[in-house]
Amino acid sequence: MKTKYLIIGNSVAGVYCIEAIREVDRKGRITVVSDENIINYSRPLISYYLGGRVTKEEMAFRDKEFYQENGVQLILNRKVAKLLVEEKKVELSGGEEIEFEKLLISCGGEPILPPIEGIEKVKEGLFTFTRLEEVDRLIDYIQANKIEEVTVLGAGLIGLKCTEGLLERGLRVNIIELADRILANTFDQEASLILENALSRKNCQVRKEDTIVRVEEKKGRINKVILRSGETLSTSLLVIAVGVRPSLGLVESTPIRCNRGVLVNDFMQTNIKNIYAAGDMTEAKDFLLQKKSVIAIWPTAARQGKIAGYNMAGKKKRYNGLFIMNSVELVGVPTISFGITNPPDPENFEILSRKNEEENYYRKIILKDNKIVGAIFMGKIERAGIFSGLIREKLDVSSFKDDLLSDDFGLLVLPAEYRKHMVKGEGFTE
Ligand SMILES: Cc1cc2nc3c(=O)[nH]c(=O)nc-3n(C[C@H](O)[C@H](O)[C@H](O)COP(=O)(O)OP(=O)(O)OC[C@H]3O[C@@H](n4cnc5c(N)ncnc54)[C@H](O)[C@@H]3O)c2cc1C
Repeated sequence: MKTKYLIIGNSVAGVYCIEAIREVDRKGRITVVSDENIINYSRPLISYYLGGRVTKEEMAFRDKEFYQENGVQLILNRKVAKLLVEEKKVELSGGEEIEFEKLLISCGGEPILPPIEGIEKVKEGLFTFTRLEEVDRLIDYIQANKIEEVTVLGAGLIGLKCTEGLLERGLRVNIIELADRILANTFDQEASLILENALSRKNCQVRKEDTIVRVEEKKGRINKVILRSGETLSTSLLVIAVGVRPSLGLVESTPIRCNRGVLVNDFMQTNIKNIYAAGDMTEAKDFLLQKKSVIAIWPTAARQGKIAGYNMAGKKKRYNGLFIMNSVELVGVPTISFGITNPPDPENFEILSRKNEEENYYRKIILKDNKIVGAIFMGKIERAGIFSGLIREKLDVSSFKDDLLSDDFGLLVLPAEYRKHMVKGEGFTE
């Protein structure tokens, strides 16, 4: 089979790529291959699905008609097993070949499995938390075995979202986290503590600066976890959520250049002319650090997929880089964070903050040379989006710095010229 555009992965980057291609080229054949067996779904919602808050149908971010309307041939439940760069073709599991003119690789990330003594003997009760089909298996296991208590290794975004889903199902959760705080990548001590206190009020206990060094099984089923601190926890269910890394299996034996992720230029093009990459598997420009990094979040995958699509279809568009940002409500506490939130050398930054622990309220703004480079909001997060714009625009905030922490801070405080620019939408375009 031959196609003009081949997309591997039918998730955020893949879908945005389709949309961009179709803006430029209404006719060229698009083929998408996914090893998952579902039209599409919002991965961040798998915790809501676990908690019973949404159905599979409600998780789709594009409906069935989307593929038909855009003339896309969607091949589900098939893995691209081999990429033959020179021949410009791929081999699917089962042997079929697809030749392409332009290729987008958007295989996303895969869960990291840390080395734990005894883990290879566990055949039941061990899960990761990144795919919908896994959540189905997890729910079945919980129900079939009447599980009441779960151990979660890792208190990053994925571990905490999984925890929230488990709590909503009425389970007790023990979290084990290696760092000295939860959500250590995006939160500082104060923000983490507010969230940890909220978790402890909900049947969840967090053990920090600890990890699992050994597990024991009984007839193949997980039975005990032994912590570095010496503590032993009995458990019939362990979820490992210590992070994801770019899924590089397909490109490893090809000439496509990789570092932590697949390296791309500002047009999302790899070192091979007709091959592009986008999303969680990609190492692309980082707006704040001005170097390449993997930023495994939805907005990055969407933007990169779109830029890749334009360039694949012949419309030159540059990716100007994004920065880490996360908006998530955990155990009833809405939070949002952007950019550099916990600078390793705080003496080189100006930090403004306000806190009210009883109200789960915290606000922190990080400035460098009078420009905002990061922010954390907890509790009241309305209008936080303006801060993302201010970071992108690198606006000098010295004239309204005193207002930044105020709950009333909004567009009206900003200089008139900038307001006009934002209202016209220019503040968010690239
Ligand atoms: C539990 C959880 C919560 C999250 N919460 C947030 C959040 O609150 N905010 C946020 O911004 N981000 C969040 N994320 C991250 C966000 O979901 C990802 O950044 C986004 O899904 C990345 O999109 P992608 O297209 O790069 O890859 P993915 O969504 O990972 O999709 C890649 C697809 O490619 C398929 N694939 C891989 N290899 C092959 C192959 N060889 N052949 C065929 N198909 C293949 C995979 O099966 C998958 O379907 C969360 C992620 C998880 C797991």
